[in-house]
Amino acid sequence: MGSSLHYKRAILKISGELLGGESGGLSSEILKKVADEICEAHALGAEIGIIVGGGNIIRGQQAEAIGIDRVTGDYMGMLATVINALALQNVIEQKGVQTRVLTAFEIRAVAEPYVRRRALRHLEKGRVVIFAGGTGNPYFSTDTAAALRANEINAEILLKGTKVDGVYTGDPEKDPTAQFIPELTFDRMLREKLAIMDSTAAAMLRDSKIPVVVFNLWQRGNIIKILKGERVGTLIRNEV
Ligand code: UDP
Repeated sequence: MGSSLHYKRAILKISGELLGGESGGLSSEILKKVADEICEAHALGAEIGIIVGGGNIIRGQQAEAIGIDRVTGDYMGMLATVINALALQNVIEQKGVQTRVLTAFEIRAVAEPYVRRRALRHLEKGRVVIFAGGTGNPYFSTDTAAALRANEINAEILLKGTKVDGVYTGDPEKDPTAQFIPELTFDRMLREKLAIMDSTAAAMLRDSKIPVVVFNLWQRGNIIKILKGERVGTLIRNEV
């Protein structure tokens, strides 16, 4: 098992916005779709850690806009990621795959606190690990949490699911002249301020030389294709 995989251990980042779909909140259809993809990759022997965002529920900046201080808002955002993590855990487990949710800060009644060695053990035992609570610190994003955990668990690749095919020179949903970029460096991404992930996450991945693939999560089979080494989406690495 797993011999056909080019990348065995991966971090998958899914934003809260993606999980919510058009109407926001949580969509059972989307949760099932995402869970299917994850379970298929798991069945091939991939060790998968998932970072979920919380943007479908609340972000620190939105809380700030309604008069809540930024740090409190950020904790609300981190708690939102826990809600999403529990939803995804439940749907994945309904498909017969064992999972663990590990939270960056303690909420022992619902999940284990994040301990690196424990996360590694779970992955080795074939459990899908869902990292919740972001980094556990305000002023950060779940993209940075994904970069951090990717480093900590020695992930070979970070998969960033989106609703478009990869990175474009502009927003393809708004700008018809936006061109697809099949490959780029972290330096170019930072220099051109391409809105893929925040600069903290990008700098961390550049320094640790962990490649990122930005891909369309709605295209069936994409996760498996990437893990098998097929070219899908946009590949971001140190050199092209
Ligand atoms: N957040 C935080 N620290 C972290 C990760 C997240 O404070 O390490 C907060 C922040 O307010 C953020 C919210 O949680 O806006 C939800 O995370 P994010 O915006 O990254 O979610 P996504 O856009 O991926 O759904």
